[in-house]
Amino acid sequence: MKELQEIVGASHVLVDPDLRAPYETDWTGRFTGRAACVVRPANTGEVAAVVGACAKAGTPIVVQGGNTGLVGGAVPGGGEVLLSLARLRDLGPIDRLESQVTAGAGGTLEKLQEHARAAGLDFGVDLAARSAATVGGLVATNAGGIRVLRYGSMRNQVTGIEAVLADGTVVSRLTGLAKDNTGYDLPQLLCGSEGTLAVVTKVRLRLVPLLTARTVALVAVAGTEAALDLLAAARDRLPALSAAEIFYADGLSLVRAHAGLAAPFPDDHPAYVVLECAARVDPTDDVLEMLSGCDAVADATVASDAAGRARLWAYRETHTEAINAAGVPVKLDVSVPLAEFPSLVARLPATVTDVAPAARTVLFGHVNEGNMHVNVLDAGDRAEAVSDAVLTLVAAHRGSISSEHGVGRAKVPWLALSRSAAEIDAMRRIKAGLDPAGLLNPGVLLPPGSPRG
Ligand SMILES: Cc1cc2nc3c(=O)[nH]c(=O)nc-3n(C[C@H](O)[C@H](O)[C@H](O)COP(=O)(O)OP(=O)(O)OC[C@H]3O[C@@H](n4cnc5c(N)ncnc54)[C@H](O)[C@@H]3O)c2cc1C
Repeated sequence: MKELQEIVGASHVLVDPDLRAPYETDWTGRFTGRAACVVRPANTGEVAAVVGACAKAGTPIVVQGGNTGLVGGAVPGGGEVLLSLARLRDLGPIDRLESQVTAGAGGTLEKLQEHARAAGLDFGVDLAARSAATVGGLVATNAGGIRVLRYGSMRNQVTGIEAVLADGTVVSRLTGLAKDNTGYDLPQLLCGSEGTLAVVTKVRLRLVPLLTARTVALVAVAGTEAALDLLAAARDRLPALSAAEIFYADGLSLVRAHAGLAAPFPDDHPAYVVLECAARVDPTDDVLEMLSGCDAVADATVASDAAGRARLWAYRETHTEAINAAGVPVKLDVSVPLAEFPSLVARLPATVTDVAPAARTVLFGHVNEGNMHVNVLDAGDRAEAVSDAVLTLVAAHRGSISSEHGVGRAKVPWLALSRSAAEIDAMRRIKAGLDPAGLLNPGVLLPPGSPRG
């Protein structure tokens, strides 16, 4: 402890339980664990010194950014040093020639977006937790979000990384070269590694053009199949399409009650899709033309001004918050091929109530990627059984048990539903190579084994 205080300063080693508490429980309230202490380094040198000291002492570390992850990967399993990256917030100058920027791992997505937009550019990833989720966390989880359709997930934005390995060594590749085939791509390896291979300290990021002409449509449809018909029409006829999100009648009721929102349409409908187009010239006419020619549309409302767009997005973006306000949910984030999507959605509620009769299932997600967020409230002591039933159903639909949130602690027991034994073994060998003592995020991502899973 004394050594850590000497590295970061006594005020940045939090030992008092009240000071540790906000770091020890995750955003959902479902995952919680005690840390030996919380350490808040200010720069890469301090991170390297802290990790090096822990390595020498054989002390495990749990890495935390904004603590908005939904699978328990950033909270302690019990007794680790919790390494918070929140003070590594530096944002470098915008490189206009390359359309890139270097960002500290602990800066929030929102600050990065503001920084890029002030220079007439934008960042390709966006998600509802933008005010707290950090650059390092987004990389470590390979976050997706609402613009994957247009720009891909976080790994598609990463051109370089600086990171601290488990023994305290700093590896840095921040040149951001568009072409550089000189061996293993460590930055890409760290995307989605969930803090198990290294601590990300800086990230070189690709930026995208700032598209200020935006139109959002909230579309009522008869169900999941109609939503897919609408998606096909939108992809076909709207080159400026940048988001396609789905939610259902029960989710809308929950959101409206929680946030006091007005009904979007005179009648209720089974399902709703939010479409967003972004371009340099106003895409509203194209959106209206597509909607009027699409049989799947039961009703629609369109907004192109900022306030109107935010009003329509709120029906979708308030889901996570409204669900959390209704209880501690079992949250599962899955994806299946689009052809399997309607069948999955149809079977999910009964699959849940078969094992947890009192539970209710609220679904919403990123329809373009067949990505459904499955939220189960009132599962009581049946959380494991619910996870098992849902993830087994997803595997039977040729899907992934984690579409974008990662495996964390929550889904470790089910990793083999998505990855073969040979793949898990290969992952273990990579882990053993970079972190032979298993000190980084033990219990996260990999099932127990050697080194410490
Ligand atoms: C309201 C809400 C909406 C969300 N919407 C989406 C969405 O649309 N798409 C999506 O993908 N996710 C979404 N999420 C989940 C979450 O925001 C993302 O997983 C995000 O990337 C986590 O970032 P964070 O900084 O909070 O990471 P944390 O929660 O702190 O950590 C997440 C994981 O990354 C590791 N980690 C964190 N920082 C580092 C680092 N510097 N180096 C190495 N490892 C690190 C942690 O150990 C942990 O395993 C949402 C969450 C909320 C609360």
